[in-house]
Amino acid sequence: MQTRTWNAAELIRKDQAHHLHPLSNLYRLRQQGPLVLVRGEGAWLWDAEGNRYLDGFAGLWNVNVGHGRRELAEAARAQMEEVAFVPTFFGLTSPPTIELAARLAELFPDPINHFQFTSGGAESNETAIKIARYYWWLKGQPERVKILSRQMAYHGIAMGALSATGVPAYWEGFGPRPPGFIHLTAPYYYRAGEGMTEAEFVAALVRELEETIEREGPETIAAFIGEPVQGAGGVVVPPEGYWPAIAEVLERHGILLILDEVITGFGRTGTMFGMQQYGLSPDIVSFAKAITSGYLPLGGVGVTDEIFDVLSSVDRMFMHGFTYSGHPVACAVALRNLQIIEEERLPDNAREAGSYLLSELSELLDRPYVGNVRGKGLMLLVELVADKATKAKFEPSFQLASKLEQATRTRGLIARCTPEGIVLAPPLIITREECDFLLEAVAGALEDVLG
Ligand code: PMP
Repeated sequence: MQTRTWNAAELIRKDQAHHLHPLSNLYRLRQQGPLVLVRGEGAWLWDAEGNRYLDGFAGLWNVNVGHGRRELAEAARAQMEEVAFVPTFFGLTSPPTIELAARLAELFPDPINHFQFTSGGAESNETAIKIARYYWWLKGQPERVKILSRQMAYHGIAMGALSATGVPAYWEGFGPRPPGFIHLTAPYYYRAGEGMTEAEFVAALVRELEETIEREGPETIAAFIGEPVQGAGGVVVPPEGYWPAIAEVLERHGILLILDEVITGFGRTGTMFGMQQYGLSPDIVSFAKAITSGYLPLGGVGVTDEIFDVLSSVDRMFMHGFTYSGHPVACAVALRNLQIIEEERLPDNAREAGSYLLSELSELLDRPYVGNVRGKGLMLLVELVADKATKAKFEPSFQLASKLEQATRTRGLIARCTPEGIVLAPPLIITREECDFLLEAVAGALEDVLG
């Protein structure tokens, strides 16, 4: 394929001069500059100097169908030529938005049958939280406003979603946060379940939930929000029995369940949605990322028939929405993307490739610094510790994350390197050979940094 040539040094210079990067170390970027990626094909990316990398993080957990899919470019082009934008405010809409809502109603388990769209995950969670509160307000229970969330949760960084997020590093310097959010213990068995069996740990988490509801008063709680498998907070795969037990308590107290499927939706865990792994029946779901495989920004929420009935039973405006809610081009791309996910049976590949990677990565557990390896489908984490017996973390001065980032990139792999270890979430189209490349790069990078 004919590819453009780029002046890497010039691009880096301009980026350093003018681009204020999100979620990046701005201090280091001023010295080191960015990695400029110019092309993608399948599971691979190329930088401006022509180096090739396996995209071990699928963009940001979202490029499920892989890079360079012409079908999606064609879907976008066709819709732009038809009409690029019409709003969904004031009762307006367009065919792709209608068709996408109808398609999602088929894909999500009943009774999730009604959808509103956004541009991404944080907006989706803001919408979910506001719908939960509005539902109770309309039902004559306006005091039901509190939101239960969990430590290690990542629900986005807009103000409301930020309050639901349970990783304090995201809060620092941005206070005050909106009040009314309560964080429960994450189902993180490796650390929080120390000294307990999995069943005892689940029982303790359920007790904590019961006590919290008792203390706050169920009549003040609107909803519980949770990712089926926690992603950015540290790939926390809940122990057996956790979700059904939590859902039972919530239902008993009339508390709505919001599932954040922003990462887990559209195949990543090995089923179309994460809720199907745990037999969950939420009241509200939020989604984004892989609904378009990242080709255009799109997110949304789905609600049950019951919630829709309450919202649409009053003769008044629903005063919530974004300019780009239901963007026709993004919806057209989403429809084509969902077709690819189904035709190519990508959830099945996520399950198969994921279980191969999990079992191969588990071989690393015999190394003194690999504390835990866990995952569900193609959401995986190799957790690293300075001392296996005490599970002590590496000192910040060791700069584990940036050393690993350097080492993985040198070996042709883009992975998410954190102070906890290496997070992997490759595109769902990944082949066995590409899995082996990824495994070799991870094992090699660990050896480079930790011996
Ligand atoms: N929820 C979850 C579970 C996420 O992982 C993310 C993003 N990583 C978000 C919400 C926020 O999505 P966005 O960055 O599109 O706002």
